[in-house]
Amino acid sequence: MRREEDSYSEREYRRRRGNLLLKCLIALLILLIIGLSALLVYEFRFRQYQNPWEQKDESAGAGGQSTGEVQVTETAAEEAALPDAEEASLESKANRLALQYDYDEAIALLRSSDGYDRNDRFKQLVSSYETTKAGCSPYPIDQVTHVFFHSLVWDDAKAFDGDEYEAGYNQVMTTASEFDSILNQMYNRGFVMVSLHDMVDVAEDGSVTQKEILLPPGKTPFVLSQDDCSYYHYMDGDGFPSKLIVADDGKVKNAYIEDDGSVSVGDYDVVPIVDTFVEQHPDFSYHGHKGIVALTGYEGVLGYRTDEVYKTRQEDRVTDFQRIFFETHPDFDFDQEVAEATKVADAMKAEGWEFASHTWGHINPRQHTVDDVARDSSRWHDWVEPVVGKTDVLIFAFGADIGDWQPYTYDNPYFAHYKSMGFNIFCNVDASTKAWVQVGPDFLRQGRRNLDGYRMYYSPDLVSDLFDVDIAWDENRPTPVPPM
Ligand SMILES: [Zn+2]
Repeated sequence: MRREEDSYSEREYRRRRGNLLLKCLIALLILLIIGLSALLVYEFRFRQYQNPWEQKDESAGAGGQSTGEVQVTETAAEEAALPDAEEASLESKANRLALQYDYDEAIALLRSSDGYDRNDRFKQLVSSYETTKAGCSPYPIDQVTHVFFHSLVWDDAKAFDGDEYEAGYNQVMTTASEFDSILNQMYNRGFVMVSLHDMVDVAEDGSVTQKEILLPPGKTPFVLSQDDCSYYHYMDGDGFPSKLIVADDGKVKNAYIEDDGSVSVGDYDVVPIVDTFVEQHPDFSYHGHKGIVALTGYEGVLGYRTDEVYKTRQEDRVTDFQRIFFETHPDFDFDQEVAEATKVADAMKAEGWEFASHTWGHINPRQHTVDDVARDSSRWHDWVEPVVGKTDVLIFAFGADIGDWQPYTYDNPYFAHYKSMGFNIFCNVDASTKAWVQVGPDFLRQGRRNLDGYRMYYSPDLVSDLFDVDIAWDENRPTPVPPM
C-alpha cells in the first residue's frame, strides 16, 4: 500500500514536474514575445525622431562639424598636432559656439587666438565652421512657432488630489514627465530654441526690423516661454517647487519642500530642466539662448515675495494668502528676499534666459481703462523690473491682446501706452495655427501655443508637428480633463 502510494506520488510528481517545465517554457516564450514587441514599438515610436541633420553628419566628414566636439576634434587631430591645455579649452569653447550655430563667434574666437597664423589645427576648424555655415539657410521669421508652459506639476498625487485647484492644474499645467518627453521629442525632431530677439532687431527709437535665423538643414527654430513663474501662494503643498534658487555650484535649481519640511534641490520646473537638457544637448539652443519667463508682480517673482505689499503690509492691500504668509514667516526680511531674487534672475540671464512682463496684476488690459493699465504698468516697473531688469517683451495674461489681427497703430491707446513703457514685442495665445507672426514698423507680435493638459487632451492633432501626445501623456492625469 505504502509502496503503491509512493510510486503513485512519484508518477504524480513527474507529471507535475513535466507540467511545470512546460508552463515555464510557455512563460519564457510569452516574455520573449513581449520583449521583442516592446523593442519594435521603441524602434518605431522613439527612434523615428532621430535628427536627420545629425544622422547625415555622421558620414559627412570634416564639413559636417555640427555633429559635435568629438568629431571635429578627431578629424582635426588626424592632420594636426595635439593642442596644449589652453588651446584645448579654446577649441572646446569654439566647438560649443558652433554647435549652437554661432559660427561667426566660433571663427572669431579662434582667429583672435595667439599664433593663429601658425595653428593648422585651428585653421582647419575655422574652415569646417565656414563650410557648415555655408550650408545653413535663413528660416522664415513668419514661420517661427512659439510654445508655452506654466509651472510644471512635480508631484502628480499632490496636484491631482481632488481639491479646488485640481481642475485648473489639469487644464493649464503640464507635468514634469510630460515636459521631459516633449523636450526630447522636439529635440529629436530637430527643433532649436531661439529668442524673440533672434527674430527682430529693435533700434533705440523703438523701430523693429526682421533679423535672420541661420540654421543647418533639418533644424526648425521655436520660441519657448513660461508664464507665471511666481510659485503663487495658492500652489503651496500642491506638488510644485517653492522657488528657484542659485545652488552651491552656481547653477539655477528649484527648491522643493518635502512633507517632513526638509528642502530638496533639483530640476523640478522648466528653467533647471531646460538648463540641464541644453548642457547635455547644446545644439538644442541657438547661440546659447533659452526661453522667456513671463512674470506678474503681485505675489513677487520666482518664488520670492518681492512685491511692494510684502514691504509695506498695507492693511487694505494684504490678501488672506499674504496674511497667512506673514504669520508663518515671522523672520521674513524683505530686503534679503529682493537680494536673493535678484541673484537668481542674474544667474538665469547669464544662462540665456530672458524675462517678460505678464502685467503686474495678471490683467486683461482691454477690460480696464488705460489709466488703470498705466498704474499696473508702473507697479511692474517699480517692483519687478528692479529684480529682473528691463524688458521690452509683454506676454499678455489670459492669452488676451490689445487689438485684433490687424497691425497695431498708435491710434490704439493701449499700444501707445505700452510703447511708451518700452515694450516692442507682444505675445498672445493662438494655438489654432503652427505660427502666427506679425512684424510691424515698431512691433513684433507672435501667437503662442499652450502645450498643457487641455490642449493635449482635446486637440492632440494641433501639436503633432511638435510631439506625439500618446508618448508624452502622463497617465496620472485625471480624465476627462475638465472642459473650459
Ligand atoms: Zn498667466
